[in-house]
Amino acid sequence: MPAPSSHILQDSFGRRINNLRVSVTDRCNFRCVYCMPEEGMVWLAKGELLTFEEIARIVRIFAGLGVTKVRLTGGEPLMRKDLHLLVAQVHAVAGICDLALTTNGFFLAEQAADLVRAGLGRINVSMDSLDPVNFQVLARRDYLHKVLAGLAEVERLGLRPIKVNAVLVRGINDGEIEEFARLARTRPFAIRFIEFMPIGADDGWSADKVVPAREVIERINAMGPKLVPAERHTSQPADRYVFEDGVGEIGFISSVSEPFCASCNRVRITSDGKLRTCLFSLGETDLKSAIRGGASDGDITELIRSAVWAKEEGHHINDPEFVRPDRTMSRIGG
Ligand code: SAM
Ligand code: SF4
Repeated sequence: MPAPSSHILQDSFGRRINNLRVSVTDRCNFRCVYCMPEEGMVWLAKGELLTFEEIARIVRIFAGLGVTKVRLTGGEPLMRKDLHLLVAQVHAVAGICDLALTTNGFFLAEQAADLVRAGLGRINVSMDSLDPVNFQVLARRDYLHKVLAGLAEVERLGLRPIKVNAVLVRGINDGEIEEFARLARTRPFAIRFIEFMPIGADDGWSADKVVPAREVIERINAMGPKLVPAERHTSQPADRYVFEDGVGEIGFISSVSEPFCASCNRVRITSDGKLRTCLFSLGETDLKSAIRGGASDGDITELIRSAVWAKEEGHHINDPEFVRPDRTMSRIGG
């Protein structure tokens, strides 16, 4: 059945899409073990990346279809020169009321003020360890001090909320759960524990390395005070908890142990302009070629609507027939 003509974006399972993740580069100065190989990454040439104007046009078209939330990501988005200029362009798009960034934090201390001035509303900083040795094992870089400096700067600037993403990998940083819980209680950081997902040929994933949310909750509860569920927003992937005394927040993105595909409201644009309707999609829709081939906004709208209509029902990570996408997480945009 073809996508029905309307001004909202929805798929054939009745899910409304209002959330767009835009990757601005495939490059990164980290080499996180779960995300990309240590050596041999081949980067896109500059001309293959969407320009800021092309990204802003795509965002305008999505906003016309009811998208209200945009997250800029990568690769490492702060490696894209003058990212604050793109933030300003996206911030100016009518209808976009939530503009966020996911970053590894390395360049944040230098760029945070410009980003906030340009209209950035929210930030997620990835920091998988509070221990310099573990941090280096996971990121393959000795950069914890830079991430902490970036976090201190966004805290000083008053940007809220500040979310800290931590991917737990059993045997490496699962011993730090209590330390992260203490951080959530002493600084204005909401910790988001992300389950390790199988993406890309070289991610080192196996099911026994995934630390499920219920195990983390038990460990934190054993410390006291206990976690209690926070108000649930059905379209948010994170299961949010607050401590029973009201100090601190912890969230879980449990894509492996508790998939949230049934309420997924997001699609992604890669830095080379491919629309992906699921993180685990095996196919893509080439918006960049359409744009550079002279397509009108109406043509692009139709491309988007029919791709979104065909959005996958779910990711099947836990099924024996699951097939990983070829792209690494860094080349998709997490
Ligand atoms: N470089 C930025 C950063 O690290 O925040 C943005 C891009 S990164 C791909 C976005 C998020 O994806 C990060 O929080 C990272 O930890 C997460 N990620 C990457 N590979 C993952 C995997 N295999 N499983 C779970 N999360 C992953
Ligand atoms: Fe880079 Fe982010 Fe991937 Fe780490 S998770 S290698 S910081 S893109």
